[in-house]
Amino acid sequence: MAMGRARKEFITSERERLLEEVPIVDEECNRDFIKAIIEMGGGDVQVCLQCGNCTGVCPVSLKTENKIRNIIKMCQMGLKEKVLSTPWVCATCHRCYEHCPAGMNPAELIVALRHIVVRELGPPPFVVSISNNVANLGQAVEISDEILNLRKKIGLNEKPFDERYRSKAIMDLKTIMKATGYDKLIGIDLGD
Ligand code: SF4
Ligand code: SF4
Repeated sequence: MAMGRARKEFITSERERLLEEVPIVDEECNRDFIKAIIEMGGGDVQVCLQCGNCTGVCPVSLKTENKIRNIIKMCQMGLKEKVLSTPWVCATCHRCYEHCPAGMNPAELIVALRHIVVRELGPPPFVVSISNNVANLGQAVEISDEILNLRKKIGLNEKPFDERYRSKAIMDLKTIMKATGYDKLIGIDLGD
């Protein structure tokens, strides 16, 4: 009983901001946006029926105002400026794809939007920071001394990786980043 009440309150407070509530002027609609999304591998957003299944199963949409169905609708309408401020909010878990009756993969759409953002507006600072960590440490997040000490205390190896293989893996990562132009795209210096 208590669970039901809590759920209802949560949905009410995190209500979807419907696109229908926002006035849209014709100048905001970029007719080339749908083509650009397809070119970046995001698929054809026009196949979306706006059924809302994706939002219903999306763990991120539960917590944010920008629901995935709404993002797709903005893409259908060519609202490029609006939509480019939202694409980072996705865990790329592909649950939406499993539940889509139209065969659309919203996760791929989000990845395509990220490509467009990075190319047109530049990478967000957290992406640069994570990329630097991956290139120099071989992992996205640096492990703090506190965690290293805690690992030792509970009987684990101090480091959760084998140093013998790590430097080779980092070299390989840098080679891939250079070969694909990822370093230049993100703006990180990998050295010689
Ligand atoms: S892939 Fe993204 S949009 Fe789809 S369900 Fe997962 S978090 Fe939501
Ligand atoms: S589940 Fe598929 S058809 Fe339904 S709103 Fe999401 S993307 Fe569109």
